[in-house]
Amino acid sequence: MKLGAHVSIQGGVDTAPDRAKAIGGETFQIFTKSQRQWSAKPLDPKQAHAFREKIVENGFSQACVHASYLINLASPKPDILQKSRAAMIDELLRAATLALPYVIVHSGAHMGEGEKSGLKRLAESIEFVLSRATGAERVKLLLENSAGQGTTLGADLAHLHWIREIFSGEERLGFCLDTCHLYAGGYDFETPSAYAALKAEIDQKVGIDRIYVLHFNDSRKPLGSRLDQHANIGKGKIGETPFSYWVTDPDWNHTIAVLETPGGEQNYQRELNLLKQFRDRAPRSSQSR
Ligand SMILES: [Zn+2]
Ligand SMILES: [Zn+2]
Repeated sequence: MKLGAHVSIQGGVDTAPDRAKAIGGETFQIFTKSQRQWSAKPLDPKQAHAFREKIVENGFSQACVHASYLINLASPKPDILQKSRAAMIDELLRAATLALPYVIVHSGAHMGEGEKSGLKRLAESIEFVLSRATGAERVKLLLENSAGQGTTLGADLAHLHWIREIFSGEERLGFCLDTCHLYAGGYDFETPSAYAALKAEIDQKVGIDRIYVLHFNDSRKPLGSRLDQHANIGKGKIGETPFSYWVTDPDWNHTIAVLETPGGEQNYQRELNLLKQFRDRAPRSSQSR
Protein backbone atom coordinates (compact mmCIF):
# COMPACT_ATOMS: atom_id res chain seq x y z
CA MET A 1 0.00 0.00 0.00
CA LYS A 2 1.39 3.37 -1.02
CA LEU A 3 0.91 6.13 1.55
CA GLY A 4 0.42 9.84 0.93
CA ALA A 5 -1.63 12.93 1.74
CA HIS A 6 -3.84 15.55 0.16
CA VAL A 7 -1.50 18.35 -0.97
CA SER A 8 -2.05 21.86 -2.27
CA ILE A 9 -1.57 23.00 -5.89
CA GLN A 10 -0.88 26.59 -4.89
CA GLY A 11 1.63 28.05 -7.35
CA GLY A 12 0.59 25.63 -10.10
CA VAL A 13 -0.48 22.01 -10.37
CA ASP A 14 3.12 20.94 -11.03
CA THR A 15 4.11 22.00 -7.49
CA ALA A 16 2.01 19.19 -5.97
CA PRO A 17 4.42 16.29 -6.64
CA ASP A 18 7.22 18.29 -4.98
CA ARG A 19 5.06 18.87 -1.90
CA ALA A 20 4.19 15.18 -1.75
CA LYS A 21 7.84 14.21 -1.98
CA ALA A 22 8.90 16.73 0.69
CA ILE A 23 6.65 15.10 3.32
CA GLY A 24 7.74 11.56 2.44
CA GLY A 25 4.65 10.76 0.42
CA GLU A 26 4.64 7.74 -1.89
CA THR A 27 1.49 9.06 -3.54
CA PHE A 28 -0.85 12.06 -3.11
CA GLN A 29 -4.27 13.59 -3.74
CA ILE A 30 -5.05 17.03 -5.19
CA PHE A 31 -7.88 19.27 -6.24
CA THR A 32 -7.15 20.33 -9.82
CA LYS A 33 -9.07 23.59 -9.28
CA SER A 34 -10.65 25.51 -6.43
CA GLN A 35 -12.88 23.02 -4.66
CA ARG A 36 -15.55 25.62 -3.97
CA GLN A 37 -16.05 27.03 -7.49
CA TRP A 38 -18.10 25.61 -10.33
CA SER A 39 -15.83 26.61 -13.16
CA ALA A 40 -12.11 27.02 -13.57
CA LYS A 41 -9.82 27.97 -16.38
CA PRO A 42 -8.27 25.08 -18.27
CA LEU A 43 -5.02 23.62 -16.98
CA ASP A 44 -1.93 25.39 -18.24
CA PRO A 45 -0.36 23.02 -20.83
CA LYS A 46 3.19 23.74 -19.62
CA GLN A 47 2.29 23.03 -16.00
CA ALA A 48 0.40 19.89 -17.02
CA HIS A 49 3.43 18.69 -18.96
CA ALA A 50 5.77 19.35 -16.01
CA PHE A 51 3.30 17.58 -13.72
CA ARG A 52 3.24 14.47 -15.91
CA GLU A 53 7.03 14.35 -16.00
CA LYS A 54 7.25 14.62 -12.21
CA ILE A 55 4.77 11.84 -11.54
CA VAL A 56 6.74 9.49 -13.76
CA GLU A 57 10.06 10.51 -12.17
CA ASN A 58 8.76 9.97 -8.64
CA GLY A 59 6.66 6.86 -9.16
CA PHE A 60 3.45 8.78 -8.45
CA SER A 61 1.42 7.31 -11.31
CA GLN A 62 -1.25 6.13 -8.82
CA ALA A 63 -1.99 9.59 -7.43
CA CYS A 64 -5.61 10.80 -7.34
CA VAL A 65 -7.87 13.79 -7.77
CA HIS A 66 -10.64 14.82 -5.36
CA ALA A 67 -13.56 16.42 -7.21
CA SER A 68 -15.13 19.72 -6.14
CA TYR A 69 -17.24 19.74 -2.96
CA LEU A 70 -20.01 21.54 -4.87
CA ILE A 71 -20.80 18.53 -7.04
CA ASN A 72 -24.01 16.71 -6.05
CA LEU A 73 -24.73 13.96 -8.55
CA ALA A 74 -27.92 13.07 -6.65
CA SER A 75 -29.42 16.57 -6.48
CA PRO A 76 -33.18 16.84 -7.06
CA LYS A 77 -32.68 20.42 -8.34
CA PRO A 78 -32.33 20.36 -12.14
CA ASP A 79 -29.90 23.31 -12.33
CA ILE A 80 -27.57 21.89 -9.64
CA LEU A 81 -27.77 18.44 -11.18
CA GLN A 82 -26.87 19.77 -14.62
CA LYS A 83 -23.96 21.84 -13.23
CA SER A 84 -22.76 18.87 -11.19
CA ARG A 85 -22.71 16.53 -14.18
CA ALA A 86 -20.87 19.06 -16.35
CA ALA A 87 -18.35 19.73 -13.57
CA MET A 88 -17.83 15.99 -13.07
CA ILE A 89 -17.08 15.47 -16.77
CA ASP A 90 -14.59 18.35 -16.55
CA GLU A 91 -12.92 16.75 -13.49
CA LEU A 92 -12.42 13.49 -15.42
CA LEU A 93 -10.98 15.32 -18.43
CA ARG A 94 -8.58 17.30 -16.24
CA ALA A 95 -7.41 14.09 -14.59
CA ALA A 96 -6.83 12.62 -18.07
CA THR A 97 -4.72 15.67 -19.00
CA LEU A 98 -2.64 15.06 -15.87
CA ALA A 99 -2.42 11.31 -16.59
CA LEU A 100 -3.97 10.54 -13.19
CA PRO A 101 -6.07 7.37 -12.93
CA TYR A 102 -8.69 8.26 -10.30
CA VAL A 103 -11.19 11.02 -9.52
CA ILE A 104 -12.95 10.70 -6.18
CA VAL A 105 -16.41 12.17 -5.70
CA HIS A 106 -18.79 12.08 -2.76
CA SER A 107 -21.91 9.97 -3.23
CA GLY A 108 -24.10 13.06 -3.11
CA ALA A 109 -27.11 14.08 -1.03
CA HIS A 110 -30.81 13.54 -1.71
CA MET A 111 -31.79 16.87 -0.11
CA GLY A 112 -35.00 15.51 1.40
CA GLU A 113 -36.27 13.55 -1.61
CA GLY A 114 -35.43 10.23 0.02
CA GLU A 115 -32.59 7.75 -0.33
CA LYS A 116 -34.20 5.73 -3.09
CA SER A 117 -34.71 8.61 -5.49
CA GLY A 118 -31.31 10.03 -4.58
CA LEU A 119 -29.56 6.77 -5.40
CA LYS A 120 -31.49 6.47 -8.65
CA ARG A 121 -30.42 9.95 -9.67
CA LEU A 122 -26.83 9.24 -8.66
CA ALA A 123 -26.82 6.15 -10.90
CA GLU A 124 -28.27 8.15 -13.81
CA SER A 125 -25.60 10.79 -13.30
CA ILE A 126 -22.77 8.23 -13.33
CA GLU A 127 -24.14 6.78 -16.57
CA PHE A 128 -24.45 10.30 -18.04
CA VAL A 129 -20.96 11.35 -17.03
CA LEU A 130 -19.13 8.18 -18.10
CA SER A 131 -20.83 8.11 -21.49
CA ARG A 132 -19.82 11.71 -22.23
CA ALA A 133 -16.31 12.04 -20.82
CA THR A 134 -14.70 11.45 -24.19
CA GLY A 135 -10.93 11.40 -23.82
CA ALA A 136 -11.03 10.25 -20.19
CA GLU A 137 -11.60 6.55 -20.89
CA ARG A 138 -8.63 5.57 -18.73
CA VAL A 139 -9.75 7.59 -15.71
CA LYS A 140 -11.85 5.87 -13.08
CA LEU A 141 -14.61 7.66 -11.19
CA LEU A 142 -14.44 6.57 -7.54
CA LEU A 143 -17.49 7.02 -5.33
CA GLU A 144 -16.60 7.78 -1.71
CA ASN A 145 -18.56 6.57 1.31
CA SER A 146 -19.92 9.33 3.55
CA ALA A 147 -20.29 9.82 7.30
CA GLY A 148 -24.05 10.14 6.84
CA GLN A 149 -24.25 13.79 7.77
CA GLY A 150 -27.53 15.48 6.72
CA THR A 151 -29.10 13.79 3.70
CA THR A 152 -25.84 12.43 2.28
CA LEU A 153 -25.91 9.07 0.57
CA GLY A 154 -23.26 6.39 0.84
CA ALA A 155 -22.78 6.09 4.61
CA ASP A 156 -24.53 2.73 4.43
CA LEU A 157 -22.41 0.24 2.46
CA ALA A 158 -25.70 -1.07 1.05
CA HIS A 159 -25.92 2.16 -0.97
CA LEU A 160 -22.53 1.51 -2.57
CA HIS A 161 -23.61 -2.09 -3.15
CA TRP A 162 -26.73 -0.96 -5.00
CA ILE A 163 -24.65 1.27 -7.29
CA ARG A 164 -22.03 -1.44 -7.81
CA GLU A 165 -24.66 -3.91 -8.99
CA ILE A 166 -25.96 -1.46 -11.60
CA PHE A 167 -22.44 -0.89 -12.94
CA SER A 168 -21.12 -4.43 -12.52
CA GLY A 169 -19.51 -4.49 -15.97
CA GLU A 170 -18.28 -0.88 -15.92
CA GLU A 171 -14.58 -0.86 -15.17
CA ARG A 172 -14.47 2.93 -14.96
CA LEU A 173 -16.56 2.95 -11.78
CA GLY A 174 -14.74 2.18 -8.56
CA PHE A 175 -14.88 3.16 -4.90
CA CYS A 176 -12.95 5.05 -2.23
CA LEU A 177 -13.43 4.32 1.49
CA ASP A 178 -12.73 6.90 4.17
CA THR A 179 -11.97 5.50 7.66
CA CYS A 180 -13.44 8.54 9.46
CA HIS A 181 -16.63 8.25 7.42
CA LEU A 182 -16.88 4.50 8.05
CA TYR A 183 -16.49 5.03 11.78
CA ALA A 184 -18.90 7.97 11.99
CA GLY A 185 -21.28 5.94 9.82
CA GLY A 186 -21.35 3.24 12.50
CA TYR A 187 -18.78 0.74 11.20
CA ASP A 188 -16.46 -0.41 13.96
CA PHE A 189 -12.89 -1.62 13.35
CA GLU A 190 -11.43 -1.03 16.81
CA THR A 191 -10.27 -4.63 17.38
CA PRO A 192 -8.71 -7.17 14.99
CA SER A 193 -11.92 -9.20 14.97
CA ALA A 194 -14.13 -6.16 14.33
CA TYR A 195 -11.78 -5.15 11.53
CA ALA A 196 -11.93 -8.64 9.99
CA ALA A 197 -15.74 -8.67 10.15
CA LEU A 198 -15.94 -5.22 8.58
CA LYS A 199 -13.52 -6.19 5.83
CA ALA A 200 -15.66 -9.22 4.98
CA GLU A 201 -18.71 -6.96 4.78
CA ILE A 202 -16.83 -4.46 2.61
CA ASP A 203 -15.74 -7.24 0.29
CA GLN A 204 -19.24 -8.64 0.00
CA LYS A 205 -20.98 -5.30 -0.54
CA VAL A 206 -18.43 -3.18 -2.39
CA GLY A 207 -15.66 -5.60 -3.41
CA ILE A 208 -12.07 -5.13 -2.25
CA ASP A 209 -10.88 -5.29 -5.86
CA ARG A 210 -13.10 -2.32 -6.79
CA ILE A 211 -11.66 -0.09 -4.06
CA TYR A 212 -8.67 1.84 -5.35
CA VAL A 213 -8.18 4.56 -2.74
CA LEU A 214 -8.47 4.65 1.06
CA HIS A 215 -8.73 7.91 2.97
CA PHE A 216 -7.00 7.53 6.31
CA ASN A 217 -8.50 9.97 8.79
CA ASP A 218 -9.16 9.63 12.50
CA SER A 219 -12.54 10.89 13.73
CA ARG A 220 -13.23 13.67 16.22
CA LYS A 221 -16.73 12.28 16.74
CA PRO A 222 -17.73 8.91 18.20
CA LEU A 223 -18.73 5.70 16.42
CA GLY A 224 -22.08 6.11 14.66
CA SER A 225 -22.24 9.88 15.23
CA ARG A 226 -22.85 10.50 11.49
CA LEU A 227 -20.70 13.64 11.79
CA ASP A 228 -17.81 14.22 9.41
CA GLN A 229 -14.95 15.74 11.41
CA HIS A 230 -11.47 14.51 10.66
CA ALA A 231 -8.83 14.20 13.38
CA ASN A 232 -5.10 13.49 13.19
CA ILE A 233 -4.18 9.80 13.23
CA GLY A 234 -4.14 8.63 16.84
CA LYS A 235 -5.65 11.86 18.17
CA GLY A 236 -9.31 11.03 17.57
CA LYS A 237 -11.86 8.45 18.69
CA ILE A 238 -10.42 5.73 16.45
CA GLY A 239 -6.88 5.89 17.83
CA GLU A 240 -3.59 4.71 16.34
CA THR A 241 -3.83 0.93 16.53
CA PRO A 242 -6.80 0.31 14.17
CA PHE A 243 -4.84 1.97 11.35
CA SER A 244 -2.18 -0.74 11.73
CA TYR A 245 -4.81 -3.35 10.78
CA TRP A 246 -5.46 -1.62 7.47
CA VAL A 247 -1.90 -0.74 6.61
CA THR A 248 -0.44 -4.20 7.27
CA ASP A 249 -3.21 -6.07 5.46
CA PRO A 250 -1.97 -7.41 2.09
CA ASP A 251 -5.55 -7.35 0.77
CA TRP A 252 -5.08 -3.59 0.33
CA ASN A 253 -1.75 -3.84 -1.50
CA HIS A 254 -3.34 -2.61 -4.73
CA THR A 255 -4.73 0.54 -3.07
CA ILE A 256 -3.21 3.87 -2.18
CA ALA A 257 -4.04 5.52 1.15
CA VAL A 258 -4.24 9.28 1.50
CA LEU A 259 -4.43 11.45 4.62
CA GLU A 260 -6.93 14.32 4.79
CA THR A 261 -6.15 15.27 8.37
CA PRO A 262 -5.87 18.74 9.92
CA GLY A 263 -2.66 20.64 10.55
CA GLY A 264 -0.88 20.77 7.22
CA GLU A 265 2.39 19.35 6.07
CA GLN A 266 4.19 19.06 9.45
CA ASN A 267 1.43 16.81 10.72
CA TYR A 268 1.28 14.82 7.52
CA GLN A 269 4.96 13.99 7.84
CA ARG A 270 4.53 12.73 11.41
CA GLU A 271 1.47 10.67 10.51
CA LEU A 272 3.07 9.19 7.39
CA ASN A 273 6.08 8.14 9.46
CA LEU A 274 3.81 6.43 11.97
CA LEU A 275 1.88 4.56 9.26
CA LYS A 276 5.08 3.53 7.48
CA GLN A 277 6.43 2.16 10.76
CA PHE A 278 3.32 0.01 11.17
CA ARG A 279 3.53 -1.16 7.57
CA ASP A 280 7.25 -1.83 7.36
CA ARG A 281 7.48 -3.64 10.70
CA ALA A 282 4.71 -6.05 9.80
CA PRO A 283 5.83 -9.68 9.98
CA ARG A 284 6.15 -11.42 6.61
CA SER A 285 3.85 -14.19 7.82
CA SER A 286 0.87 -11.84 7.52
CA GLN A 287 1.28 -11.79 3.72
CA SER A 288 -1.63 -14.08 3.02
CA ARG A 289 -5.34 -13.55 2.70
ZN1 LIG B 1 -12.32 11.47 2.39
ZN1 LIG C 1 -14.70 13.68 5.53
